[in-house]
Amino acid sequence: MAARRQALRLAARALEQRLNGDTRDHVGPELPCPCGGSAQYHGRHGKTFESVLGPLHLQRAYYHCEQCESGFCPRDRALGLESFSLTPGVLRMTASAAARVSFEESSELLHELAGVEVSAKQVERAAEALGAEIAAEEHRQVERRGERAPTMYLGMDGTGVPMRPQEVADRTGKQADGSAKSREAKLVTIWTAEARDEEGKPVRDPGSITYSAAIETAATVDTSPDLSDFAARVQREASRRGFSEAPRQVVLGDGAPWIWNTAMELFPQATQILDRFHVKEHLSQVGKVIYGDGPEGQPWIQARYDELDEGRLKSLVEALHAHASQYKEARDCMGYIWKNRRRMRYPKFDQQGFCTSTGVVEAGCKVVIDTRLKRAGMHWTVKGANAIIALRCCKLSGRFEDFWERRSDQRKAAA
Ligand SMILES: [Zn+2]
Repeated sequence: MAARRQALRLAARALEQRLNGDTRDHVGPELPCPCGGSAQYHGRHGKTFESVLGPLHLQRAYYHCEQCESGFCPRDRALGLESFSLTPGVLRMTASAAARVSFEESSELLHELAGVEVSAKQVERAAEALGAEIAAEEHRQVERRGERAPTMYLGMDGTGVPMRPQEVADRTGKQADGSAKSREAKLVTIWTAEARDEEGKPVRDPGSITYSAAIETAATVDTSPDLSDFAARVQREASRRGFSEAPRQVVLGDGAPWIWNTAMELFPQATQILDRFHVKEHLSQVGKVIYGDGPEGQPWIQARYDELDEGRLKSLVEALHAHASQYKEARDCMGYIWKNRRRMRYPKFDQQGFCTSTGVVEAGCKVVIDTRLKRAGMHWTVKGANAIIALRCCKLSGRFEDFWERRSDQRKAAA
C-alpha cells in the first residue's frame, strides 16, 4: 500500500507539472461566453481535483463574463473536470460504487481500494447527477440494441421505496392513519429463455436480462390519448429489445391490475402468464393462515401446488372454498384465482415451451430496488431515488459501458 501510495504521488506530481507548464489554455484577452456576452481573461486560477492518482492541484486560465456574472476555465471543459472537483476517472469509479452500495460505503470503498478521497456527500451528488443524465438519455435512446429471440419475456412488478416525510406529505398510503411512508417504484424487465435444462425445460439465458424502472404512475385518465409514464417506459424498453417483433411474446406479472392494463394496452397479442412463483407464494400464505406456521399445513399447501401445476383450478378453488366462511384470505385467494384463471393455464403453457415459474420478475424488484434502496435508515426524495434507480438499471443491464463512451464522445465534441 505504501509503495502504491508513493508511486501514485510521483505520477500525480509529474502530471501536475506537465499540465501546469502548458499555458496554451490562455487564448487571448477574451472569449465568447455561452450567454452571448464576452468573457475577459482574469489570470490563472488554482483548484484541487481528485483524480485516480490522488489530488491534483491545477492552475488554469480563467475567464469571467460581466454580463452573466459567471466564469469558466476552458481547460476544465477540455479535460471533463466540471463535475464536483472529480476527474472523469474518479467520477466513473464513484458511479460504479454508488450503483451497488450506499453513499457512505462507496466513499469507504473508494478510499480503501483505490486510495481516492470522495466524501459521502460528494458521492451522493455525483451519483445522482450521473443517474439523472442516464434517466434523461433513456427517454431518447429507443433504437434496438442486441439480438431478438424467437420467444421473448417481459415482466412487470412494483415495490415500495421509503421516502422522506416531505415527499409523501399529501399522499394517502397504507399506514394506520391513512398516511404514506413510501412510493411505489415500478419495474419492467425483459429476458429470453432459449436454453433448455436436462428435462428440456426452458432456462433463462445468462446475460439476457435488462431492466428499466422508476417511481412513476401507471394510470392515465380514460379520455387521455397519451400513455402513462410507466407504460411509455415499458414501450421504450420493448423497442430497445425488439420485444414486439418477436414471433412469440409473453408478459409475466403478479395479480396487480396496472400490470395487466399496461400489457393489454401495449401488447394485446402477447400471451399473459401469472408468474407461478408468485401464485405459489400466495397459496403458501393462505395455508399458513389456516394451519399456522407448523408442518401441519404442508400437505395442504403441496396439494394446492399440485392442482395448480396440473391445471385443476376447479378443485383448487373448491379446496379454498371449504375455508372461505372462516378466513378472508381464502376468499380473497379464490377471487384472485378466478380473475386470473386464463393466465394460469400452466399445463398448456408448459406444452408450448413457455417459462412460467422463473421468479425473474420477483427477483427483479429485489435485485434492482430493494437491495440498494430499501436499507436501514434510508429515506429518499423521488428525484434522488429515480436517479439511483436509473444508474442501477443501466449498470445491471450491461449498458453503463456504452453510456460512458457516448458521454465521453459528446464531451470531447463539445470541448
Ligand atoms: Zn456570460
